[in-house]
Amino acid sequence: MGKPTGFKEFERKTEPYRDAMERLIDFKEIYTDHHEEHLANQGARCMDCGVPFCQSAEGCPVYNLIPEWNDLVYNKRWQEALDRLHKTNNFPEFTGRVCPAPCEGACVLGIHEPAVTIKNIECAIADKGFEEGWIVAKPPHFRSGKTVAVVGSGPAGLAAAAQLNLAGHEVTVYERDDRVGGLLMYGIPNMKLDKGVVDRRVNLLKDEGINFIVNADVGGNGDNAIATDQLLKGFDAVLLATGATSPRDLPIPGREGDGVHFAMEFLLKNTKSLLDSNLENDDYIDAKDKKVIVIGGGDTGTDCIGTSLRHGCKSLVNFEIMPKPPEDRSDNNPWPTWPLIFRVDYGHEEAAARDGQDPRVYSISGKEFVRNDSGKLLGINTIGVDSESQPVEGTEKFWEADLIFLSMGFLGPEHYVSEPFGLELDRRSNYKADYGSFLTSHEKIFAAGDCRRGQSLVVRAIDEGRLVADNINKFLEI
Ligand SMILES: Cc1cc2nc3c(=O)[nH]c(=O)nc-3n(C[C@H](O)[C@H](O)[C@H](O)COP(=O)(O)OP(=O)(O)OC[C@H]3O[C@@H](n4cnc5c(N)ncnc54)[C@H](O)[C@@H]3O)c2cc1C
Ligand code: SF4
Repeated sequence: MGKPTGFKEFERKTEPYRDAMERLIDFKEIYTDHHEEHLANQGARCMDCGVPFCQSAEGCPVYNLIPEWNDLVYNKRWQEALDRLHKTNNFPEFTGRVCPAPCEGACVLGIHEPAVTIKNIECAIADKGFEEGWIVAKPPHFRSGKTVAVVGSGPAGLAAAAQLNLAGHEVTVYERDDRVGGLLMYGIPNMKLDKGVVDRRVNLLKDEGINFIVNADVGGNGDNAIATDQLLKGFDAVLLATGATSPRDLPIPGREGDGVHFAMEFLLKNTKSLLDSNLENDDYIDAKDKKVIVIGGGDTGTDCIGTSLRHGCKSLVNFEIMPKPPEDRSDNNPWPTWPLIFRVDYGHEEAAARDGQDPRVYSISGKEFVRNDSGKLLGINTIGVDSESQPVEGTEKFWEADLIFLSMGFLGPEHYVSEPFGLELDRRSNYKADYGSFLTSHEKIFAAGDCRRGQSLVVRAIDEGRLVADNINKFLEI
């Protein structure tokens, strides 16, 4: 249980990020090195509460054995902590970096004191595991002779592939992009998750025997297309883990034309150009010296802010349609639910450090993209909205902009894969499959991750990947 008096002796102290101004000059990770003594003290704060809500459904979606590894870290038994961590989470080096840590929102200590720094400890265990050479490829001891095709190489597809391969099945992962990782590779930017960290894990999966085919667009029409029939005939089971990649648009006047882009176009091209040429091939949307407006918040909005700042944008504003969240939990948002409170993410911190103020403007909605006679984007007209998102008269305003990024969430998966398979959709246009069975309306096609539940979190995708693998395993054994 860590140290019985640890939570009284030590204050919560998270590992600091690199200095905000310093990190703006590169795309390296924002994190600083782990210090074992510090983390042992933080682990000591874990109180051995009777019911560890951190590892319940309200807390960690993969039910990480958090109190166990807190104790092991406090007692400097790092390798055992790693073993415990890998029991429930295939990729703790990803979640330790990018997870919003619902576990900390559900930490029992958090009822009256700041929560244990669970995410930092998870990341440090995983990073030490790699540094020490404890994390190595572990190919299965036998092969079942059964084959599974996984479509999509995001965290859901990767977790499922890892588990199915471990069970001895021959797994082939098809990915339409040129690199493996889904949004781990081409969504979340380098400063939050270095792509070397993604490749390192993918290489282990390759060494364990998983077959990856990139530039393979299942159900597509182009040169890279893979026919859906080929998968049905060639494999004993098929898993769709294609993500929720249809972005929500802002169909207001002036939408058509240059200067207004979906966030993912900006982020994907930036990472690809960075990896291919260190941003020297000009094959990306350059925000340098541009007046940038990001419409929409969340992780995607923050990543657009962080990326624009690194390009050297002239100015930056972030619109949020919702009102500013409260500093503390409101009455209808009690512990252990996820705290809906005001947070300063890395991009906001960087904007404030550079420009002297937080870039967010709340309770605001776009009315019209303004263009000159030749169609060049000049900016956007907005109107203030109330807490029900209804326009408030007299609050109209014009904002200058050269570039506007739309980061307003995702509508669900694309359907060119599900249509040829004849799959049913749910009412939100996701592939219909129950959580638990993950079986779609087709007898041998399963679905997991964002394509089934809508855009969510890396840790939830890992959870679904692990669970769908269990079910595919049972299906193949019948
Ligand atoms: C910009 C951004 C930042 C985010 N930041 C965070 C964060 O910090 N923390 C967090 O927890 N979550 C974050 N998320 C959410 C998280 O990334 C997703 O919930 C998670 O990646 C979903 O995993 P997935 O495996 O279901 O799908 P994805 O990661 O979307 O992967 C799906 C893959 O399927 C491929 N694919 C699709 N169709 C086909 C096809 N027909 N043939 C072959 N391949 C196909 C796609 O190219 C993609 O690689 C972020 C999301 C975005 C967009
Ligand atoms: S995966 Fe997320 S919720 Fe689970 S322990 Fe790690 S940070 Fe917490």
